Amino acid sequence: MNASNPSLNEQLAALAPDGWSWKPSDPPALIFQDLWLSTKWVDVPRLIDELFPALLILKDPASPPRRVNSEIEKTVQILCNIRSIVYLPDIASLVTAIDNENRSKPPEQMCNIDEDNERRSSTRSGLSIVNGTEPKSPLDQLCYDVESSSCAITDNSTCSDCKKKLSLFVFGRRYHCRMCGQTQCSDCQIWQTCRHLGYTLPVRICQACSLHKRGIIIDAIYSHIQKSLINGSTQYLSLYIALLKHYSQQNDFLYSLYELVENHFLAFQNFGGVMQCLTYRCAPHEA
Ligand SMILES: [Zn+2]
Ligand SMILES: [Zn+2]
Repeated sequence: MNASNPSLNEQLAALAPDGWSWKPSDPPALIFQDLWLSTKWVDVPRLIDELFPALLILKDPASPPRRVNSEIEKTVQILCNIRSIVYLPDIASLVTAIDNENRSKPPEQMCNIDEDNERRSSTRSGLSIVNGTEPKSPLDQLCYDVESSSCAITDNSTCSDCKKKLSLFVFGRRYHCRMCGQTQCSDCQIWQTCRHLGYTLPVRICQACSLHKRGIIIDAIYSHIQKSLINGSTQYLSLYIALLKHYSQQNDFLYSLYELVENHFLAFQNFGGVMQCLTYRCAPHEA
């Protein structure tokens, strides 16, 4: 082992701590120590040399923002080659909660399947995208603008999905999707909550609308991010763009959004957020 390496690591370790806002990483010092003391760092002093000026700027950003940005960009590209996760937030529990909410569920009372579930919140301005989140949970802030109008009901004698003939009687009877209003047979429908329409209990919807709900979640997250940018807030922003990344395909529109959020983080000297956005921008377009 090269004798000069330990001292480089010591220098880097001395840069570590909390002033960087490389959140969320818990506890930050240990994670960076792990990174810096890994064999890759010790074996590649050239990388450390390359990174060192950028790390100094990150620690004490006295330079003009643009320069900070380009140095961080260089840093993130190098870091991505070594280990890309240290500044990316863990959203696993949030994703689980959202996916659970959007899973098919049986109705709560089978005897009421003929009846409409009442919309629970048509008078409320917003309804959180998942049920039962605690106040001050990141998900509690993500709301739907609940639409007040019902969809137009299309009454057909065949299922819009499988084309089976339907009757008005109990066997083979017709049901309407609560999202699109099309007629389907019971086999082609699933029970899901439609919180964006105010249905907090499961209602019948068709498969196509179930897929469409993913886009509605993305819209809700996106509009909350926009509000954060306008309000000058960074609270949970790192989690929200991670969720957006999780539920969306990379495209030019998202690329521009990451750039906007990155500048927003930069203005708040939240360099972890800056690097997160850069990572997302550097990520190859997924098929
Ligand atoms: Zn059908
Ligand atoms: Zn539908």
